[in-house]
Amino acid sequence: MHIGCPKEIKPQEFRVGITPNAAREAIAHGHSVTVETGAGVGAGFADQAYIDAGAAIVGTPAEVYGNAEMIVKVKEPLSPERKMLREGQLLFAYLHLAADLGQTDDLLDSGATCIAYETVTDDAGGLPLLAPMSEVAGRLAPQMGAWTLQKANGGRGVLMGGVPGVSPANVAVLGGGVVGTQAAKIAAGMGADVTVVDRSLTRLRYLDEMYGGRFKTNFASAGNVIDLAREADLIIGAVLIHGAAAPRLLSRAQLSELKPGAALVDVAIDQGGCFETSRVTTHENPIYSVDGIMHYCVANMPGAVARTSTIALGNATMPYMLALADKGWKQACKDDEHLLRGLNIHAGKVTYAAVGKALDLDV
Ligand code: NAD
Repeated sequence: MHIGCPKEIKPQEFRVGITPNAAREAIAHGHSVTVETGAGVGAGFADQAYIDAGAAIVGTPAEVYGNAEMIVKVKEPLSPERKMLREGQLLFAYLHLAADLGQTDDLLDSGATCIAYETVTDDAGGLPLLAPMSEVAGRLAPQMGAWTLQKANGGRGVLMGGVPGVSPANVAVLGGGVVGTQAAKIAAGMGADVTVVDRSLTRLRYLDEMYGGRFKTNFASAGNVIDLAREADLIIGAVLIHGAAAPRLLSRAQLSELKPGAALVDVAIDQGGCFETSRVTTHENPIYSVDGIMHYCVANMPGAVARTSTIALGNATMPYMLALADKGWKQACKDDEHLLRGLNIHAGKVTYAAVGKALDLDV
């Protein structure tokens, strides 16, 4: 199969859909790979790395879309990219169609077959192509929280690990899923005093079994959350209710009960945020203050570490990309019900129930 990888054109998107290593594997499977010039630069992969892997470099997106039977990219195609998709072509990328009627209409019109990373599932009930980005965001959250806590950034001026004779930072992690677990591990590794809360006792049991001694766990009742928040220097929001907006765990009124200069890192901001005062920020201007409490609410945290994120995403997508290229999408989806769940659009029809329901379209 001929695989194409365009340069991402969404603002501030530095990741790339195919790494040189993934290109090398696809080529070893007998496929050809075309990459748009400069596509990997934001993630630290020069054109030469792709050429060394056996891929072809072309100068324009039109050449990538024109030749490819499968387009592999990171973010959903923007309007000019959608115009280049054609009937029978396969698109493999994050799509997030349920909130995007314009994109859905264009993809239906294109006649392309569209498999969305975010709805591919696994045997454990997880989302294997979202998990690596949650791991990145989770591990980045204490790093950004530590930075936000610095005095020059408006924070309390507290060092995560303390020093001999001075207590470390007190960190509360709200939600102990993928993001929260990674955040807690890193914060504890920085020497902070960490507590993770969750509403799932099964999850709390798992965390206690795995990490007991490194961080504490607590049940996420409203009373426990505010008690922990009052003591915290840094609060990391990492909750998720599947298919719903993030639950609000701290109200504006409660900010007055927090320590002055405390930092809130709301990783759940892409689902609306779990603090009432959260609003989306960007990497250029990531923090703001409400009532003296510092907020960090960047919606695409993995973009800050585009190289790590690209490699992590590439590791996760590669087996699916290879299966799609080796077998064709039909057989690959027949053989793997989890990949089939990724199928969102085929030949002008929505094939994923939740998207159809959200957009009131026939499925
Ligand atoms: P996950 O499903 O693995 O974990 C979510 C956890 O929240 C679960 O353990 C669940 O039991 C818990 N939870 C639900 N309601 C709760 C409540 N009221 N109180 C306490 N815990 C509660 O999800 P995840 O992969 O860890 O993702 C967490 C959030 O981070 C999601 O909103 C996700 O979209 C977001 N995210 C953001 C970025 C970013 O760049 N900002 C990147 C990746 C993920």
